[in-house]
Amino acid sequence: MADAIVIGSGPNGLVAANLLADAGWHVLVLEAQSAPGGAVRSDRGVDPEFVSDLFSSFHPLAVASPAIRALGLGEFGLRWSRAPLVLAHPLPDGRCAALYRDGDGVDGPDGERLERMFGGPDARAWQRLAERWDELEPHLVDALLKPFPPVRAGAAIAARLRTAGLLDLARFLALPVRRLAEEEFAGDGPGLLLAGCALHADLLPEAAGSAAFGWLMAMLGRRHGWPVPVGGASALTAALVRRLESRGGELRCGQPVREVLVRDGTALGVRTADGCRHRARRAVLADTSVTALYGGLVGWEHLPGSLRRDVGRFQWDFGTVKVDWALRGPVPWSAPSAGRAGTVHLGADLDELGDYAHQVATGRLPARPFALFGQMTVADPSRSPRGTESAWAYTHVPQRIAADLGPDGITGRWDEREGEAMADRIERQVERFAPGFRDLVAARRVLTPPVLRSLDDNLVGGALNGGTAAPHQQLFLRPTPGTAGPRTPVARLYLASASAHPGGGVHGACGANAARAALNAHRRSPARFLPVGGSSTRRGPHR
Ligand SMILES: Cc1cc2nc3c(=O)[nH]c(=O)nc-3n(C[C@H](O)[C@H](O)[C@H](O)COP(=O)(O)OP(=O)(O)OC[C@H]3O[C@@H](n4cnc5c(N)ncnc54)[C@H](O)[C@@H]3O)c2cc1C
Repeated sequence: MADAIVIGSGPNGLVAANLLADAGWHVLVLEAQSAPGGAVRSDRGVDPEFVSDLFSSFHPLAVASPAIRALGLGEFGLRWSRAPLVLAHPLPDGRCAALYRDGDGVDGPDGERLERMFGGPDARAWQRLAERWDELEPHLVDALLKPFPPVRAGAAIAARLRTAGLLDLARFLALPVRRLAEEEFAGDGPGLLLAGCALHADLLPEAAGSAAFGWLMAMLGRRHGWPVPVGGASALTAALVRRLESRGGELRCGQPVREVLVRDGTALGVRTADGCRHRARRAVLADTSVTALYGGLVGWEHLPGSLRRDVGRFQWDFGTVKVDWALRGPVPWSAPSAGRAGTVHLGADLDELGDYAHQVATGRLPARPFALFGQMTVADPSRSPRGTESAWAYTHVPQRIAADLGPDGITGRWDEREGEAMADRIERQVERFAPGFRDLVAARRVLTPPVLRSLDDNLVGGALNGGTAAPHQQLFLRPTPGTAGPRTPVARLYLASASAHPGGGVHGACGANAARAALNAHRRSPARFLPVGGSSTRRGPHR
């Protein structure tokens, strides 16, 4: 019998499993899909000579995450690669805002380059943002990624800033990115970089907290670059699995869990789709969405009535449509420096970004989709043959489409016609900044919301962050006000996925927090965790 069962082998599930195995627990990970990794997987499905990341690609959060760093994955084969330039935001007129990793800049710091390109005295303002980051990192990273409330990191930040500084920080953290840009910058470049970063989540340029999110992503890029695993996203997953197995942990794929077995308010194990029951002596950790866990894997009869209302109000983040391409040559950007960036943001100006995000938030499918574009061969030359490019782009779409503002009458059925029409729309957006792009396409693959979900059940409606990143569902309010963090109303059951604090991204912090909660509970009252006797709620074969 396992000490702990982890449902799902996304990065959070695998980090949790590793920490439990480090503590000497016997861990069994049950994964529904035929391959591990959740939204950290790559394949050669577009073209056998091209590696394509199916979902996540750039992993600054993994590099910055104390939980993942402590695993020493280099020993298990993980190597990072970086593009010469972290991020580019080209404009249709050929200007281009760019972000470099500290020390990689060949022609001066970001602020000066932005000033040269966009005019206005922006170098000093950009430098102030960088200094704010330098002063607070790593306490800020700890405060964000460790369990809430971040007592030690919070005290360290308070000691540095004192009252006036703290009030100023509080204001900064609440600012919409549009307002920050108005206050700080004379030119358009810096605001565009930050607003594009905020749109990695579902944060409109006018939304509270969007400046801080954009700043976090940009400053992580400045510090660490936005690195990618050499050989594809699966290389990160493979290192996590190798490490787990080296400590006696076990991973079984093709094992969807259908039920968490609960008796007298305590999780005893799980039942898989084949009817087998797997018992867990000490804990069950769910790297599943919160809506799949509560009222799904755990029946409402085991849960407080108020949770049903709260889960009913749980807000998913925007849906996603992603296109993967095998390109015959490098992307013909009008702004040549975009060709050196791993990530390129495609939107003409801050108003276009704002209009797009507002349309998605109000159920209207944009005619001009803001797109995040990944140049994977630029970031890691092992991804495709020399002279070609393995590329992707994704855009957010409404969870429910009320109207299509484009010409295709897309309804959200996402059948083949709608998927191809949306992919064409994304390609037209790329063409605005890189005329001739479509002539380079040798093959493409379209991942619509239902396709994404079929590959990872946590990606509900194509949501990629495990729920909205808006303040009303963050920190002590995530996933719901009554069940913040990894603890659940069921003893020995923990929520380990991005639906818990601190949310989406490949940082493993949700899994680490859940593992620590399970270990602490066991340390506090080991007697409650002696091998369980008695039967589970329904009959079936045991493993
Ligand atoms: C298109 C896309 C692009 C992204 N880009 C980035 C990026 O560049 N950088 C970044 O940091 N983040 C990115 N993200 C977000 C990031 O990938 C996720 O936030 C992260 O993977 C969440 O990890 P997780 O472990 O919580 O869940 P997931 O990675 O979703 O893994 C959950 C796993 O649990 C399994 N599972 C679910 N239910 C069951 C069940 N009942 N039984 C058994 N197994 C089950 C699933 O099959 C899956 O393998 C992206 C996400 C997407 C979708």
